[in-house]
Amino acid sequence: MIPILMYHQIGTPPPKGTRLRGATVHPKRFAQQMRWLKRFGYTGLSLQQLIPYLKGEKTGKVFGITFDDGYVNVYENALPVLKALGFSSTHFIVTAEIGGQNHWAQKNGSLPAAMMNTSQLRDWVAQGQEIGSHTVDHVYMSKVDRVEGMRQLIESKETLESLLQQEITSFCYPYGAESLEARHWVQETGYQVAVTTERGLATHEDDRYALPRVNILRSTHLLHFLRKTLTSYEEQKRRGYSNQR
Ligand SMILES: [Zn+2]
Repeated sequence: MIPILMYHQIGTPPPKGTRLRGATVHPKRFAQQMRWLKRFGYTGLSLQQLIPYLKGEKTGKVFGITFDDGYVNVYENALPVLKALGFSSTHFIVTAEIGGQNHWAQKNGSLPAAMMNTSQLRDWVAQGQEIGSHTVDHVYMSKVDRVEGMRQLIESKETLESLLQQEITSFCYPYGAESLEARHWVQETGYQVAVTTERGLATHEDDRYALPRVNILRSTHLLHFLRKTLTSYEEQKRRGYSNQR
């Protein structure tokens, strides 16, 4: 059982009462969480690097690190921590907003926040991190028709691939909104893995096009954080997953 952590913004949380305030984790808290996992012998991996573990081909004390949406504050505050610890992670980008803002969230009352630009995306990859797609326009994949769904998947993949000169294989459903049909589109368009916002630890029995995650919020305290993540390896051994495949 593998925890795949889900973060959004890494920065100073906005004032009380701000919409989605909980989705901003303080940089010190993020660094503390990563250091503790390292101390317990865990390695944080991008989704791409996690695939052999998800397939049951490899075992070990690993966990996934994902960031949704493409915020600049993740580049500024999380990247130095990840680099220092030798961890990799996946950052999911809304391609219509590269160098832009979280316009889709502002419509619902969130504060404006800047998104990574092209040179930051390139640097993110150069520093050993992964970029994934989060559609072109942050759409509900469960609500669009096949033509629009395929366009969101293909266009975002092509944009990122031409910017970064490498294959994009990871996808994240905006709002966690997915369907059996949407999973098929993701597979059909050449992605290898996709994550949702469904809560839980991933196992090799999960559909790799709808992996659950562990949501880490501003208010997630260290003990709770460790309990959510550290129990997983012991659990895995106890259930005898280790050498099944
Ligand atoms: Zn999102």
